[in-house]
Amino acid sequence: MSTASAYLTVAGLGIDVIYKDIKNLHISVYPPVGRVRVAAPHRLDEDAIRLAIVQRLPWIRKQREQLQNADRQTERHLLSGESHYVWGERLRLDSSSRGRSKVSVAGKTLWLTTPSDYDDGQRRAVLDHWYRKELRAAIPPLLEKWQPIVGEEVTKVVVRRMKTKWGTCQATSRAIWLNPELAKKNPRCLEYIVVHELTHLIERTHNDRFIELMDLHMPDWRARRDELNDAPLADEEWGSMS
Ligand SMILES: [Zn+2]
Repeated sequence: MSTASAYLTVAGLGIDVIYKDIKNLHISVYPPVGRVRVAAPHRLDEDAIRLAIVQRLPWIRKQREQLQNADRQTERHLLSGESHYVWGERLRLDSSSRGRSKVSVAGKTLWLTTPSDYDDGQRRAVLDHWYRKELRAAIPPLLEKWQPIVGEEVTKVVVRRMKTKWGTCQATSRAIWLNPELAKKNPRCLEYIVVHELTHLIERTHNDRFIELMDLHMPDWRARRDELNDAPLADEEWGSMS
């Protein structure tokens, strides 16, 4: 049994490819952002895999769209007893509407207090603001640690909700953008995204050099990336390839 992996960009989509001792190519789309993973038999070369992905693009796009809609539908109502994640830990929400806006964590409880006249949207905004603050506070120590290692510096970090990305970088302005949802994940995942985006200041695409640099700086980056993504939303086995 042997495995190898690669990273391809097809039609603007980043695709993880894992080579396995399997017969048929298999495409999966993972929540929450629609990461695409392809399990491919060893015998397929990159061109054949690219072709398979291109042919399945309408299916992949449809899965990603459904995933983004599903994400909206499962939005929490911020009721006491709901589970909410903070830095990878599952906490129980305890919400109260008898006070000034305040969010805090105590043990396994996430406390949300808002004024009594706040509606759902306002209460959500209070919690969102807190997640963003959490994320912002976590970034400077990571930059301090990783900028000298990667050998690149950013001018600005923007925390911005993005539908399909955990992070992105603008090489010209040397700014990186991070998704506030990262504050719900294990801090190891944020660290991975920061290193990934810093590495993009050296290599803009996910080419071999990019993978080499990631392997050099953060040998366990694949495990961290996988931790960001849970079970696949959709799988499709695709056996008609030759
Ligand atoms: Zn990237």
